[in-house]
Amino acid sequence: MTSALLPTYARAPLSFERGEGAWLVASDGERYLDFGAGIAVNALGHAHPHLVAALTEQAGKLWHTSNLFEIPEGERLGRRLVDATFADVAFFANSGAEANEAAIKMARKYHAAGGHPERYRIVTFEGAFHGRTLATIAAGGQAKYIEGFGPKVEGFDQVPPCDVAALEAAIGPETAALMIEPIQGEGGLRVIPHEELRRLRALCDERGLLLIMDEVQTGVGRTGKLFAHEWSGIAPDIMSAAKGIGGGFPLGVCLATREAARGMTAGTHGTTFGGNPLAMAVGNAVLDVVLADGFLEHVRRTGLLLKQKLAALRDRFPDVIEAVRGEGLMLGLKCAVSNTAFVAAARAARLLVIPAGDNVVRLLPPLIITEADVSEAVERLETTAAGLSPAALRRAAE
Ligand SMILES: *Cc1c(COP(=O)(O)O)cnc(C)c1O
Repeated sequence: MTSALLPTYARAPLSFERGEGAWLVASDGERYLDFGAGIAVNALGHAHPHLVAALTEQAGKLWHTSNLFEIPEGERLGRRLVDATFADVAFFANSGAEANEAAIKMARKYHAAGGHPERYRIVTFEGAFHGRTLATIAAGGQAKYIEGFGPKVEGFDQVPPCDVAALEAAIGPETAALMIEPIQGEGGLRVIPHEELRRLRALCDERGLLLIMDEVQTGVGRTGKLFAHEWSGIAPDIMSAAKGIGGGFPLGVCLATREAARGMTAGTHGTTFGGNPLAMAVGNAVLDVVLADGFLEHVRRTGLLLKQKLAALRDRFPDVIEAVRGEGLMLGLKCAVSNTAFVAAARAARLLVIPAGDNVVRLLPPLIITEADVSEAVERLETTAAGLSPAALRRAAE
């Protein structure tokens, strides 16, 4: 039977009934080790007892009142995020793209409020992904997402990452901000070096530009710091986060310094659902766990272990895996074979991983994985690689 759903997704022929920790149980009862975590969303795995308790408790009290009223759970989550980061203020949305829309509008409004409405252009990096709304596809600059959807939203200029000359040339009197992912996720786990981030911060300061960090995928502990930019010792002016922040509940946030947010006065921006009590209760519960003593240390330790084991796997199967990239539990395998073939073969070995640009396979496990989960995943990756390796297949045929 044909599906009643708009066919915009190329879905795997597989669905799940329940999950527990890093494991998913398919409709046919098969167990899958989940190293995709719903694209870095299920940061605490599936059915985490603390999140289930927070959600069900709030569900019995109040779901939604709208932003016409104060929302104490949101005040609390905003305060906690502000206390844990560079930011002074938070705006809650429902997705990464919406958090980025808020960031883009805020950067433009900052200059307009300062008497420079002509400064509205934003420089982004090639290979970027910032979402699928009209403005964020223009920001991402990828033709495959832009073409056929009418005039491209004006005001985005793109340069290759780490190209000083191109960046200098792209910045003009109309430039408002620079918008970057500290590690490109969809783009293929391309890490922007810490030195480069520091250079970009200095450049923004010099030119009066705002630095926007899109931490939708890298944030909320994914790299072993609460936010990935912390590794470089610099801070953005505006930052978006989403994916992991609701642990599976749709939630995004745009965080900013008070200065960067100076234009965003009452009535300038809004969303009906953003920051509702249900989302805020879950967001607070996620933070309870991520901010607990030792949690980020656990991410760093298991991330390092996984990376070492992946490097060993690359050494054994160089005709399948060219390189290992990424930080913490945001790791990528640059493939010598087709990355989608790799993902399908891993799925056959009951391991879920995710393709990315640049022929990369992404490993984005729940941050709560154990060392045993790491070993299990690497065994399944070994089966996957052995099944795809031309050399291994030749040896087996002899
Ligand atoms: C996923 C992602 C987005 C878009 O988030 P949605 O919730 O799908 O709108 C934006 N930026 C980055 C870096 C992402 O990884």
